[in-house]
Amino acid sequence: MTDNCIFCKIAAGEIPSQKVYEDEETVVFRDIEPKAKIHLLCVPKDHFAYLSELTEVRARLLGRLMQKIAEHKDEWGLSQGYRLVINQGENAGQTVNHLHIHVLGGETLEWE
Ligand code: 5GP
Ligand code: ZN
Repeated sequence: MTDNCIFCKIAAGEIPSQKVYEDEETVVFRDIEPKAKIHLLCVPKDHFAYLSELTEVRARLLGRLMQKIAEHKDEWGLSQGYRLVINQGENAGQTVNHLHIHVLGGETLEWE
């Protein structure tokens, strides 16, 4: 747990969120400002901000997060498809410096 990190606090249950899934290394909850009908944030409990901080262990962790998204997509209302987004840094508009995968769907998503 890193002080003053909103996603660490959500993972620890110190800030309320609409969680749809949790296990020992992962939490998935609804984005507070959804950009699609369904907008989830899939967050590793391990605090790091950037893919440049990946280690072998973290790379395997991220792989498992994506496996879990694929496993649970139907119960999360994403059976017709979904989009994953990882914002990295200023130009991408990353606002929370705890790595997270946006999971978007529930409708046809614009592309272009
Ligand atoms: P980023 O811009 O860093 O890729 O994504 C951060 C996301 O976190 C944004 O989509 C924003 O709406 C969401 N967010 C920020 N604060 C909170 C919060 O306190 N609760 C929830 N559920 N989502 C949050
Ligand atoms: Zn954090």
